[in-house]
Amino acid sequence: MKIGFIGLGNMGGPMAANLAKAGHEVVGFDMADVAIEGVSNAASGAEAAKGADVVITMLPNGAILRAVADEIIPAMGAGAAFVDCSTVDVDSARAVAEQAVAAGLLAVDAPVSGGVGGAAAGTLTFMAGGTPEAFAKAEPLFEIMGQKAVHCGASGAGQAAKICNNMILGVTMIATCEAFALADKLGLDRQKMFDVVSTSSGYSWTMNAYCPAPGVGPQSPADNDYRPGFAAELMLKDLRLSQQAAESADADTPMGELARDLYARFVDEENGLGMDFSAMLPRFSARSRG
Ligand code: NAD
Repeated sequence: MKIGFIGLGNMGGPMAANLAKAGHEVVGFDMADVAIEGVSNAASGAEAAKGADVVITMLPNGAILRAVADEIIPAMGAGAAFVDCSTVDVDSARAVAEQAVAAGLLAVDAPVSGGVGGAAAGTLTFMAGGTPEAFAKAEPLFEIMGQKAVHCGASGAGQAAKICNNMILGVTMIATCEAFALADKLGLDRQKMFDVVSTSSGYSWTMNAYCPAPGVGPQSPADNDYRPGFAAELMLKDLRLSQQAAESADADTPMGELARDLYARFVDEENGLGMDFSAMLPRFSARSRG
């Protein structure tokens, strides 16, 4: 296939490289001057999109996605697919998909989980929204860039799945960290805490697979001075998107709201910027109740 790839950053760069490695013709564009192995550079987004069977975008946010969509949709040929893999707000995902479909294109919103490591290794998980026909066109590319793709429903369903998952993740990480900090103050050994909780009803992915306590459980960013991993500011971005969606859908999400506020304080006022999102544990350890 001929693929246009717009946004060749930490995630998009290795994803585009994997498509090229698999034998596709990939024409890339990024505002920053980047060189990706096997990917030829276009002078603009529109040039990368022209004549492409599929255009993939991997951009920072919904406003940028909307601006790029305005530019590239007129350049794409009828029947081509617009596949956005960025994490953006549900409203932007739906608006861009509508615009693409109105122009005779197929549209898929397909945010990913798996991080930079997953992008490089081609082991991302894609959660996709769009028509079955649009999903079918993008699926062979998801298989190259990832290990799993779930078709979640109509346009916007991929973004909805992503932010709901990450809202659970943010809330659960905070609950796990505050419980460890309480256990410390009660004189409970961290290893014993892990041994009990990881095999009891308090278990979770944050405890069992990504334990925030250094030296306890499997290797995690806690064992590497809380270097990310999944940075606290990216968790904050996703929690903000979850609350934006909750407002737009009139959903009551008090735990998600509190998690957003705690990560906002952590990132903006408490040196959490650039730390893994599990560094909430030392944050709680350093605090007292008042
Ligand atoms: P990044 O900042 O490294 O990459 C974004 C790229 O887009 C940059 O290279 C930037 O120059 C480019 N860009 C911005 N505006 C542009 C424009 N108008 N035209 C062309 N290029 C433009 O970010 P990233 O880490 O690669 O993340 C990309 C998306 O993936 C985000 O939506 C993020 O939330 C999501 N995501 C990231 C991770 C992660 O671990 N990094 C994990 C899952 C999802």
